[in-house]
Parts: sequence; structure tokens; C-alpha cells
Amino acid sequence: MKTGVQVVVVGGGIVGASVLYWLTRLGWTDCLLIERRELTSGSTWHAAGNTTYFGPYAQMTRLFAGSIRTYLQAQEDSGHSVGFHQTGSLRVATTALERQQFHSFEQNYKALGIPYQVINNDQIEKLHPCINTEGLFGAAHTPTDGHVDPAGATHALAKAATKCGASVKRQCPMKALRKEGGHWLVDTPDGVIRAQHVVMAASFWSKDLLAGLGINAPLYATQHHEMITEGVAALKTLDHEVPAFRDSYVSCSVRQEGQGFLAGIYETDPVFWALDGIPKDFKEELFPSEIDRLMPHLEKLIDRIPAFGDAGIKTVNNGPMCWTPDGLPLLGPLSEHEGLWLASGFNVGIGTGGGSGEFLAHWMVDGKPHFDLPIVHADRFGNSVSRESAIESIKACYRQGYKLPDQIG
Ligand SMILES: Cc1cc2nc3c(=O)[nH]c(=O)nc-3n(C[C@H](O)[C@H](O)[C@H](O)COP(=O)(O)OP(=O)(O)OC[C@H]3O[C@@H](n4cnc5c(N)ncnc54)[C@H](O)[C@@H]3O)c2cc1C
Repeated sequence: MKTGVQVVVVGGGIVGASVLYWLTRLGWTDCLLIERRELTSGSTWHAAGNTTYFGPYAQMTRLFAGSIRTYLQAQEDSGHSVGFHQTGSLRVATTALERQQFHSFEQNYKALGIPYQVINNDQIEKLHPCINTEGLFGAAHTPTDGHVDPAGATHALAKAATKCGASVKRQCPMKALRKEGGHWLVDTPDGVIRAQHVVMAASFWSKDLLAGLGINAPLYATQHHEMITEGVAALKTLDHEVPAFRDSYVSCSVRQEGQGFLAGIYETDPVFWALDGIPKDFKEELFPSEIDRLMPHLEKLIDRIPAFGDAGIKTVNNGPMCWTPDGLPLLGPLSEHEGLWLASGFNVGIGTGGGSGEFLAHWMVDGKPHFDLPIVHADRFGNSVSRESAIESIKACYRQGYKLPDQIG
């Protein structure tokens, strides 16, 4: 293993791999990614892979759009498939106000060159005949997004980066981090690595890893369920894959998976995990599923997509998802710790990981990001957010689900 590099990236999920990839694309090839277990061993392996362009914060759209672009570029560079399905997405409007808000985004998407249209119910039915449009006010349609294979994308990014000269060391957990003589020293079981820069991309583990430096990063994990159905007759007869569907009433996203559905559910009362620190013996296992908690959402989902109720449930995954108090990632430098960068706290890390890798790598290499996005800056919470207040804020974000925040940027 290398013992001296320009950059150590800690964590081999979609985000760490994206940062590594973009650093090498921008010419910083003396980089080493260390991963505690295997690439994708955190939340990435069980993610649904949705990469929609539509998010609650219009300012974030560039990160979403940059992500699909990044994964497709990494696929080309590495020859490794990222499994992109360009199904497009529908965010249905459940009120006239929601539709009005969707219209307010039109200019933003136009400026970014991203196809985006507010469509009517008859158009929804053509694209997704399984949706019951009764009572809907149309939908925001982004036809060029879809979903990727999160593991495929992570491996493509890492492979492309290593082709350019970067290194990846698996089964190599960071044990401690300290600064000495102007350099960072990363302790691992295989020895100490000296680096000018360290990128902390270890999701909810980053909180414990940074605590030794006196940094209080407000990163906490909730449990998050996704459910995959058996084949659905109505989908089998179609000649196209239906767009992903998101709905603030159901608080749920549903996309096609094979000939069935895959639904991700944002519960009203989220359950947290490992509030006292991530257990040392946690590998990458899932939690027991708790279907009862999902029932109120499933009932609404069946109102909206009746065919969902006809299909048997094949798999239920309940995995950890990382949150910050405002639901946005911590991305950027920490001014009091020169050379230390955060890329942690992603709850839609597949959707935003690739674009975030690009954003952070530009900041590191060029001295500033390639566009302004203060809402993600790593130091925005200061160092004194209490656990109680962070949890209350995260609960509010989680139960917000697919509702739009009051202040839309
Ligand atoms: C059920 C479910 C479905 C989801 N579906 C979607 C979706 O459709 N779209 C979407 O955008 N997001 C989805 N997510 C969220 C998504 O999984 C995460 O946002 C994303 O995987 C976060 O990536 P990451 O790289 O930040 O973290 P992780 O994937 O958790 O990676 C962190 C890595 O750091 C490593 N690590 C930890 N400690 C150390 C250490 N000491 N030294 C070295 N390495 C270390 C870990 O092993 C891990 O591999 C879903 C989440 C869940 C639970």
C-alpha cells in the first residue's frame, strides 16, 4: 500500500468513488481510496438507484444532472456497465399549488438544458398506464433521467479512476486521523498513510471518525425501507419501462424493477439507528423489516397504483440511510482543518453522488467549486448542533418525503 499520497479518500461508496474519479479526471492522480470492507459496503449496495433530476431544492438540480453524466462517462472510460435505464420520472401534483410550484421550476431546467415539462393527467396515463390519475393536477415530467445500478456505477467509477493512476485499497479501515508537520496522517491496520488532503466520504461513520479531531458532524442514520414486487400483469403487456413515480400524498417513490415495482417509502415517524455510534461489528447487513410501519403508506400507494396491490411482495429491504439536519450533504472544506474535506451525509447519494464528486474535486483542484452551492457547504452547521435538535430536524425532513419545502430556490 502507498504510504504517502496527495489525497486519501476514506470510504468506497458511490460518493467516495465519485470524488476519486473526478480528482483523476481533473489531473490529481496521486490519490488513494481506502475502504473498510468492500466497495459499496455501506448504504450504496442496497440503494434503489434512482437518479431523478427533480429534487426538493431547485439549486441542487446541477448535482443530480451531473451525476448521470458522471456515471455514463465512467462507464465509457472503464468499460464497466452502470446499468442506466432512461425511464424518465413523474412527480405528480396532488394540489393546484404543487402544480404551480412545478411550473416555477421551468426556467431553472431550461437554463440547465434539462428537458422538463409540466404535463396533464392524460399524458401521465399514456406514459404510466398503472397510475390512477383521479384527483391529480398533472405532473412534472423529466424524460431523460431514470435509475442506475449503484454497485455497477461505483465499480465503474473506481475502475476508471485506477486506470488513470489512482489506487483503491479494500479491507483497510481508517482507525484514526491526525495532523503532524502540516500533513495528515491516516492510521490503518496496514500502516500510516501521509497525505496533503483527506476526503471523508464515510457517510454516517464519518461522525465517529471525525470526533477525535473535536469535530461534531451532525450525521445520523435512519432506517429506510424499500419493497420489490413480483411481476405485475399490467407491466408485462407494455412495450416500454414506465417512468419513476413520486408522490407527496403517498410519500413514496416507485419505479419499475424487471416486470414488477420497486417502492421506497418515507415513513411519517422515522426510526433512527445507532444513535450512540455505529456498532463496531456492523458489516453491511440489513435490519429486520417492519411492514406494519409501512401499511398507511401502502394503502395510499394502492389507491394511486392499484396494480401494486395485485402483486406479491418479493423482497423487503430495510437499510441505514445517512441524514444531516437539513437533509442536504456536507460537502467542502472545514476551514479550521486545512486539507480536510467532507463528502458525507447523503440520503440521495446515488442521485447526487456523481455531481457531488465533480463539485468537490473542482473545489480541491481549482480552489473553488465550478458553481456556487452554499446550501451544501460542510461548515454550515458550526460545531455545536446537539443530538436532540439534529434528530428533531431530521425527523421533519424525513417525514417531509416528497413535499416541497416552503422556500423553494
Ligand atoms: C433502502 C434504501 C434505498 C435507497 N435508494 C436510493 C435511491 O434510489 N437513490 C438514491 O440516490 N439514494 C438511495 N438511497 C440512499 C443511498 O443509498 C445513499 O445516499 C448512498 O449510498 C450514500 O453513499 P455514500 O458513499 O455517501 O455512503 P456509503 O455507501 O454508506 O459508503 C460509505 C463507505 O465508507 C466505508 N467506511 C466506513 N468507515 C470507514 C473507515 N473507517 N475506513 C474506510 N472506509 C470506511 C463504508 O464501508 C462504506 O462503504 C437508499 C438508501 C436505502 C437505505
